Amino acid sequence: MDTFIVSARKYRPSTFRSVVGQEALTTTLKNAIAGNKLAHAYLFSGPRGVGKTTCARIFAKTINCLNPTHEYEACNACESCVAFNEQRSYNIHELDAASNNSVDDIRSLIDQVRVPPQIGKYKVYIIDEVHMLSQSAFNSFLKTLEEPPAHAIFILATTEKHKIIPTILSRCQVYDFNRIHIGDIVAHLQYVAKEEGVQTEPEALNIIAQKADGGMRDALSIFDQTVSYTGGNISYQAVIENLNVLDYEYYFRLSEAILAGDVVNCLLILNDILNRGFEGQYIISGISSHFRDLLVCKDPATAQLFQVGASIREKYIDMAQQCSNDFLYRAIELSNDCDLNYRLSKNKRLLLELALIKLCQLREGAASGSEEKKKPIEPIIPLKKNSSTATIPTQSGKVADRHEETEKRQREDETQPRASEEIHHITAVQPTAVQPKEEREKPVTPKRKSVSMAGMGVSLASINQTQKEETIIISEKAVQNGTNLFTEKELVAAWESYAATLKEEVLLKNTMSLYPPRMLNDVVFEVEVNTDLNKQYLTDNSLSILTYLRETLQNGEITMTIRIAEGNAIKKPLTSREIFDEMVQQNPVLQKLSDEFGLELS
Ligand SMILES: [Zn+2]
Repeated sequence: MDTFIVSARKYRPSTFRSVVGQEALTTTLKNAIAGNKLAHAYLFSGPRGVGKTTCARIFAKTINCLNPTHEYEACNACESCVAFNEQRSYNIHELDAASNNSVDDIRSLIDQVRVPPQIGKYKVYIIDEVHMLSQSAFNSFLKTLEEPPAHAIFILATTEKHKIIPTILSRCQVYDFNRIHIGDIVAHLQYVAKEEGVQTEPEALNIIAQKADGGMRDALSIFDQTVSYTGGNISYQAVIENLNVLDYEYYFRLSEAILAGDVVNCLLILNDILNRGFEGQYIISGISSHFRDLLVCKDPATAQLFQVGASIREKYIDMAQQCSNDFLYRAIELSNDCDLNYRLSKNKRLLLELALIKLCQLREGAASGSEEKKKPIEPIIPLKKNSSTATIPTQSGKVADRHEETEKRQREDETQPRASEEIHHITAVQPTAVQPKEEREKPVTPKRKSVSMAGMGVSLASINQTQKEETIIISEKAVQNGTNLFTEKELVAAWESYAATLKEEVLLKNTMSLYPPRMLNDVVFEVEVNTDLNKQYLTDNSLSILTYLRETLQNGEITMTIRIAEGNAIKKPLTSREIFDEMVQQNPVLQKLSDEFGLELS
């Protein structure tokens, strides 16, 4: 590997056919040659490294070839072609306008234009980065462009077409070069690797192609760099290390945590990535792209457009099935907003964290497709009249009914108190019930409004499955734990002792400490919280909380309802400021931090 020749030069295409990823354009050029309809000036525009100069050279060689093939390619054998290939042809002149942009430079070029070619028919003048010419250079060039000698052909190349003055543009045939597709670049790199006897992994070449952003020259130069770095074995791991690319596994882990609404895990993953030395801007734009890629993979048809190795594509398709379109649109929007605000933000890390928290909140609307792996989305179990176990909606088919019923109750709540029915029912089941004193004095119906599923934006299909799963567990517990009566004091004590067992789930722990439960009747208690975020923590963990309470208090019918305090209920979605305030409320140190460092929310 010591004498590795720079691949970009060694594998520079020498015929139109071998130009990668610009088929439409090379075909048009060949047709022009075939029809002998050559213009005097061409403008090749497009991003760097996509083959503008290469095509200009091939074009110059082909029109001067003494013995072109039937396909109008240069023969690479005649005297003119050999001179071209050995870079000693007098029929081609290249001027790099980036470094030679003065009037004198252009004048010496114009002087040469008058001299006709000795071999071949045309003299070709390639002016690279033509937008860099000074204004006066442009002006003196314009005259030559207006009345060129018959043997002169100008090919102007630029990455910035908009900087070319209209008088020049109007005299040129314009060819727009596209970025080269990742698949085309990968295929070409595979070809080069095979020729050079280099071992490669498709994912590795894919990363190189992505990094090159559609430019073959960059791709080949990264390829060379990686070959010398890895000693001829281009693996995915080696490439991401060498190019400082974040392993896509991190994006998958992040999106899994986001889909699970797991804020804590998200923040830990972010911390891990930052510790590995990645820039925040890079991370957030990577997250945006990741969601964009997932969106593309939603449909197997468009997934073909997603240019990666087969194994990764499968992963993307699999994860895409777990996200609704709506979730992805909003996730892309959210992460993109964060990306845009990033540069201006004074507390960049907080901005990132807030974005992740917001992404976690999107989860409510995220559900669709395979739900088996997910946590229950709405595990709050309302009382149901006429049900023998009093608490649990058992059949998945009932969910739609339940939904309607919930709405109906909302309406009824406004007109009449309907608490009596439920109390009757429950006291009938437990005739020995001695209600806590507090209990009798206040209205008993849980405020259904706050737990309305319509308000949760959860797809019904998803609740079906999770609910079913949960019901089985709860029913078993119900049988085991009996119907022992307990007081609110005992409930609060059990609630607090559960909170005390929490170590890593700091946010849940704080939420539980902040909002003690209040009994609504013998088995139903209510937790009034301030924000959706608090509600989310409790909802996500309701199964384990309830299981604990039922075991501790020896009552299998204990049911939790969660309500957002009046006046706060409409506040969804939360603003960054509100989320911050909420976090401060749970962890006052944050405010201190913010004050001390003079941080501001963007
Ligand atoms: Zn030839």
